[in-house]
Amino acid sequence: MSDLAIQNITYLPGVGPKRADLFRDELKIVSYEDLLYYFPYKYVDRSKLYTIREVNAKLPYIQVKGKITVLKTIGEGRQSRLSVMFSDGTGTIELVWFKGNKHIKESLKTDAEYIVFGKPSAFNGQINIMHPEMDQVKEGEVKIASGLQAFYNTTEKMKRQYLNSKAIQKLQQNIFSSFKGMVPETLPARILERYKLLKLHDALSTIHFPADSQTLEKAQFRLKFEELLYIQLNILRIRNQRNRKIKGHHFEKVGDFLNTFYTDKLPFELTNAQKRVIKEIRRDMGSGIQMNRLLQGDVGSGKTLVALMVMLIALDNTFQASIMAPTEILATQHFETIIEMLEGLNVKVALLTGSTKKKERTRIDQELQSGELQILIGTHALIEDRVKFKNLGLTVIDEQHRFGVAQRARLWKKNYQPPHVLVMTATPIPRTLAMTIYGDLDVSVIDELPPGRKPIETAHYFHNRRNNLNKFIKGELDKGRQVYVVYPLIEESEKMDFKNLAEGYEYMQRVFPEYKVSMVHGKMRPAEKDQAMQEFASMRSQILVSTTVIEVGVNVPNASVMVIESAERFGLSQLHQLRGRVGRGADQSFCILMTSYKLSDGTRKRMEIMTRTTDGFEIAEADMKLRGPGDLEGTQQSGLPFSLKIANLGKDGQILQFARQVAEAILDDDPLLEKQENFILNKQLKKLAREKMNWSMIS
Ligand code: ADP
Ligand code: MG
Repeated sequence: MSDLAIQNITYLPGVGPKRADLFRDELKIVSYEDLLYYFPYKYVDRSKLYTIREVNAKLPYIQVKGKITVLKTIGEGRQSRLSVMFSDGTGTIELVWFKGNKHIKESLKTDAEYIVFGKPSAFNGQINIMHPEMDQVKEGEVKIASGLQAFYNTTEKMKRQYLNSKAIQKLQQNIFSSFKGMVPETLPARILERYKLLKLHDALSTIHFPADSQTLEKAQFRLKFEELLYIQLNILRIRNQRNRKIKGHHFEKVGDFLNTFYTDKLPFELTNAQKRVIKEIRRDMGSGIQMNRLLQGDVGSGKTLVALMVMLIALDNTFQASIMAPTEILATQHFETIIEMLEGLNVKVALLTGSTKKKERTRIDQELQSGELQILIGTHALIEDRVKFKNLGLTVIDEQHRFGVAQRARLWKKNYQPPHVLVMTATPIPRTLAMTIYGDLDVSVIDELPPGRKPIETAHYFHNRRNNLNKFIKGELDKGRQVYVVYPLIEESEKMDFKNLAEGYEYMQRVFPEYKVSMVHGKMRPAEKDQAMQEFASMRSQILVSTTVIEVGVNVPNASVMVIESAERFGLSQLHQLRGRVGRGADQSFCILMTSYKLSDGTRKRMEIMTRTTDGFEIAEADMKLRGPGDLEGTQQSGLPFSLKIANLGKDGQILQFARQVAEAILDDDPLLEKQENFILNKQLKKLAREKMNWSMIS
């Protein structure tokens, strides 16, 4: 029994072709190994035996030990049920079966002792247990009925074939008894010893048959640690390989462009956080190694300015720079901000999007290749093959989570030697997740907002307070402020959503006749969209009714109110992003979340978090706890490139941290895992890369 991975479960006692098909179709379980790694989702403590006198209907799962006193079938045909009176000397309880009665009746013995396990309920004053588990008390087979019992998820289809949780546990037992020897170890002996970890064999047998909760915890720890260790090893090794193979453009100096900008142009003092991250980025770009850095900073923390300043360093070293944004609105806005900030500096900047005219495109193509054009700002259009730089030294990707990994990779190819890459995101990613999906990137964080910002006040209104809302909006408009009203728009209910949006637009026009209302949505032509945005940005309109196209990056500092309609339909981090559109100036800003009365618990929780805090990291952590990391917004598009079987990024931060440290120590000593003592790690990494994880996607 050496390779559990190729041993087909069809041949496992208790399985056979029919069940093997079910396992494959329902749970993608094919081999012994697959089944062994199908872990329980919960455990019930079966170490306690209740006396029947103690049992009441409020208790969760319980077990009692005793004998059958009466056994009879009541009723006829399909309506019939099996009723068993069961007693232990302290009292009597009724056990009831509606399904499989005949079979069960034949299997039960009145002279034997049983341990009965199930959920008690009450009917007509009599305590009963429906469909209990019955274990005849025999020497040597107490394993299942004592300690913690594992519960496994199964599907309806499986249950119909009696492949329930209990059956799966029996099969786990069959695996262990059908092969002699140990499950081959997957961690080096020295690691097991140093960190006092359970052997794989023991961890797996404990996870299915825990003797007590202490050993179970040890088993869980070993398996979680291993899972996270391999992910970290993989990410960090890729980074090592990359740093060896790829040299970075060496930006050795800061020159006139940055110096002049800093002394003559910068309209305000940089925050300390901005200064710090600029230093970190400069250090990378001057190190000779290619930079791959993630810049995280909450909405409004001033990432664009950081991007601009480090692009100027590229220019000072006679390289070109580019910045890519996910939407045309945002690219255009960056273009305008940057042009304005660089006025008089003699830097040539261009904007390239899907709607750039042909003539302009040709000019851009030419000037990029001649090197005349120094900064290119754009959307996805930037990664097309026809876009060729003379000497691209730095590329910035704004709102990185909106792009797939593949798109990021294409920017690498824009120079004979890849440019430095700075990816920016305002969607705060919890540390654990960043260490896992972006583990190959170095991380800089802007953890400070520019001074003078007042935290946005957030309120949650039900629809019946619309008149109050309108009064409030009127007050803000009369003070000269501007207002966003955002509607959800999702593809499945697109028609309805458009109707709501259009009605909202008309409604605002009706309620505020003295003010001008603009509207933007994703289906408008770029020129129309642009025009509507421009109206709002230049104060020609005071109210902007829109879909989430304005979610990302849009900057209109005079806007002080964000109304989010049907807020229940947005996720936490999307709400946070939308809210970040206001609070960009010195005035007090407000966010109002409008919902209907009927809210699910999850929604209520989201509204509660939003009204309580404006801290993006706190929101991201809460989001991860509420939804689970696989669902985390901002990772949906790239997706988690692997599935975790046992570790949970929301809860196992400490184990992850530990795994990371161990991985770093191993790789410091042996960067490519070539030493004999790391053979097992190398082999296991290859196996995982082949079978389980789409790891090539990570970097
Ligand atoms: P984000 O990080 O969300 O992309 P922006 O770069 O759009 O934030 O910056 C938000 C606003 O803050 C902009 O109007 C910008 O000019 C301003 N800003 C950036 N840095 C500072 C600073 N150090 N002091 C004052 N205002 C700043
Ligand atoms: Mg931004």
